Amino acid sequence: MTIPAQRNVAEPDKLIETLVSLAKRRGFIFPSSEIYGGINAIYDFGPLGVALKHNIRNLWWRQMVELRHDIVGLESSIIMAPRVWEASGHVAGFTDPLVECKNCHQRFREDHLEGVCPNCGHREFSESRQFNLMFKTFLGPVEDSAAQVFLRPETAQGMFVQFQNVLNSTRKRIPFGIAQQGRSFRNEISPGNYIFRLREFEQQEMEFFVKPGTDDEWLDYWKQARLDWYLALGVRPQKLRLRAHGPDELAHYAKAAFDVEYEFPFGWQELEGIANRTDFDLRQHSEYSGKDLSYFDEETKERYLPYVIEPAMGVDRCLFTLMIDAYDEEEVRGETRVVLRFHPSVAPIQVAVLPLSKNEKLLPASREVEELLRPHFRIEYDETQSIGRRYRRHDEIGTPFAVTVDFDSLEDQAVTIRERDSMEQVRVAIAELVPALTEKFRAASGT
Ligand code: ATP
Repeated sequence: MTIPAQRNVAEPDKLIETLVSLAKRRGFIFPSSEIYGGINAIYDFGPLGVALKHNIRNLWWRQMVELRHDIVGLESSIIMAPRVWEASGHVAGFTDPLVECKNCHQRFREDHLEGVCPNCGHREFSESRQFNLMFKTFLGPVEDSAAQVFLRPETAQGMFVQFQNVLNSTRKRIPFGIAQQGRSFRNEISPGNYIFRLREFEQQEMEFFVKPGTDDEWLDYWKQARLDWYLALGVRPQKLRLRAHGPDELAHYAKAAFDVEYEFPFGWQELEGIANRTDFDLRQHSEYSGKDLSYFDEETKERYLPYVIEPAMGVDRCLFTLMIDAYDEEEVRGETRVVLRFHPSVAPIQVAVLPLSKNEKLLPASREVEELLRPHFRIEYDETQSIGRRYRRHDEIGTPFAVTVDFDSLEDQAVTIRERDSMEQVRVAIAELVPALTEKFRAASGT
């Protein structure tokens, strides 16, 4: 399976619009609470979207936790003690500058404006003020300030506050990491670009604890490892880059940071952040909690606060990137064929099992092929509509292979495998189907 470096899109300006419509029509992404008019910057994932998201999550977890001896997992709560967010600096500093248009009174993030109100074109704005992005709610039945808590705006703090528990229970030695995935919430002032900037989203973050002095090397290691991860998922190299943060951009806790950026239709934007958080978080939590979060190195008999290198990615943003990057259109016999050229490891469905028609004679054999393949691959069995339309649907949702059962199959015990990208068809004995497809996946994944 060769994936062309250049994708063809008839109307690049309309790519996002095209994807929004495809994503809804085919069941990847729906506006949340749509029958009530939706809710701004919050989305639901349909059957194909949830499969894609699940695959992204699992590949990350496999790479970051299961295949490594030096990283362990954690699942911390979304609501944490409010002091956590005072110590981390979020209560005082997790803010964006907010301005209001003097004409239409819509509010915007000042650093995203280019001098003109995107709503009405007016050029006068109120003084900017700092707006805290954390969602607030109350814990327990009394709604007063003592009961106020926050929905976490990042998963990272859970890993810092459980550092000692993880260390004591696993007996890991530095360098080692803690990884977690889960929902985060940010009351973004100007969300948008579909699912690029959401108010409820999902993150996969890993805090890698290292000895001070080795932090620069580890930052280099992780920025390359993370870039390579996207390349291994088939993201086009010319659309990916690493960009260093300038001194004025660095977060309050960071000594150095890089973004993995992707060239979205609306410009180069962050896909993942990789930061050297120094000992900032452990130091703050030691001070605010009064608990010593330092590490004792048995070999050198030194005690120190570890430095932390953090790769932080957004699952929804990764999903969006993979959809944009995979989208392709080509002319086939005078018709436009839409193909999502997903890497086989992330494709929501890996093999479509398609009887040539709904003819009763074909159905038992087709069901047998489905049962044969289901334990090995993500399968969809589909017998509705003409075979041509079913191929087109599977191209459009990115299914790498289709297996077609026809009348000859009943005689020769063989089926046809159709490849999504080349549209080539080969005949394979049913007895050989699992190894043949396994080999095709191996070849197509570059593994
Ligand atoms: P920005 O400066 O664009 O607001 P950030 O630099 O604060 O974002 P991080 O805190 O580094 O973002 O978050 C790590 C990752 O989490 C991001 O690279 C992104 O993939 C994801 N992410 C952050 N905020 C959002 C959001 N509002 N919607 C979707 N994903 C997000």
